[in-house]
Amino acid sequence: MEQDIHDLGVELILFEDGYGFTFEDAPCYPVGQLLLDFCNTDFSTIFAEAEKYPDSHAEFNKNNADYAQFWLQNIIVSKCGIVLGRFLVLELMSSAYQCQLDGNTMINLSIDSEGSHIDEKNPIQITDIRDFFLYSLAFLTMLQNYVSDYIESYIEGDSSFIKEMFFSTRKFRDQDIHYAIVYVKEKLVPIYTFVDVVSMIRFELCNIMEKKVIIKNCANCDRFFVPLNRSDTIYCDNPSPQDPTKTCKAIGATIARQTKERTDMATNLYRSIYMYRQMKAKRNPDIPAYKEAFEWYKTETKQWKADVKAGKRTEAEFIEWLKKVKEQKV
Ligand SMILES: [Zn+2]
Repeated sequence: MEQDIHDLGVELILFEDGYGFTFEDAPCYPVGQLLLDFCNTDFSTIFAEAEKYPDSHAEFNKNNADYAQFWLQNIIVSKCGIVLGRFLVLELMSSAYQCQLDGNTMINLSIDSEGSHIDEKNPIQITDIRDFFLYSLAFLTMLQNYVSDYIESYIEGDSSFIKEMFFSTRKFRDQDIHYAIVYVKEKLVPIYTFVDVVSMIRFELCNIMEKKVIIKNCANCDRFFVPLNRSDTIYCDNPSPQDPTKTCKAIGATIARQTKERTDMATNLYRSIYMYRQMKAKRNPDIPAYKEAFEWYKTETKQWKADVKAGKRTEAEFIEWLKKVKEQKV
């Protein structure tokens, strides 16, 4: 029997300050969190896992795609959590159905080797399961890039992207959201059923704007987050990139202090050497070596600063270099 994907939609209950879900073990979400989790998902690690699929060169057809997406959904749910995981799996399934409708061809879509980009000018043919995974995850990455730009604009107080998203009848028709009313906790509440990620994105963006949800970039990892309870917090509750067993909130301040101490140390060293060499050159205009040493120092440190800023070299390396220069006889 043909499976109707509408039977597999994600049901979301809209409460005053957040969302509940109808499936077991699903946590409640504050408005906006679902979308930010989507923005913060690292699709390249999911693709790396998908590469381990034992039958990745099996022919792309509906049966094989169904089996493969069933295999991948456990990985997605373990990485993204049950709620966002379900949305992503839905999208995968609708990709599979769409592929089938289009006769195994994703028209006008092509994927680069990283799987992170869709090139609309060079169409490709999906021939095996690996292509299918690559396509689905590239599509999600493309969506993620759009949404991240929208969120950046929203943080800066610009909501003009809403026009782009909603002010056309075609985009209006793109929304696939089923609406019903249920009685939960002695209240009548709206319940929405989603069958794709794009509709969820639109729904979240509207609710974020409607409820004026505060969104920030974490001062440590730069990912988006909703500051709960304390709106003045600058660090998120996600695992930190420096030590995934600790959250940015737990170690952000320490790392910022260490970084500041290093920066201050580099600045102080840089200045003291600068002053010393400048003084030597000024007091001894008859000795060209002093002027040359000062000019050399200015050129070299300019390059160092540019490299540290660009991430080519570290502040710690700069400090080591400055210490050596300080010991040199001018
Ligand atoms: Zn963070």
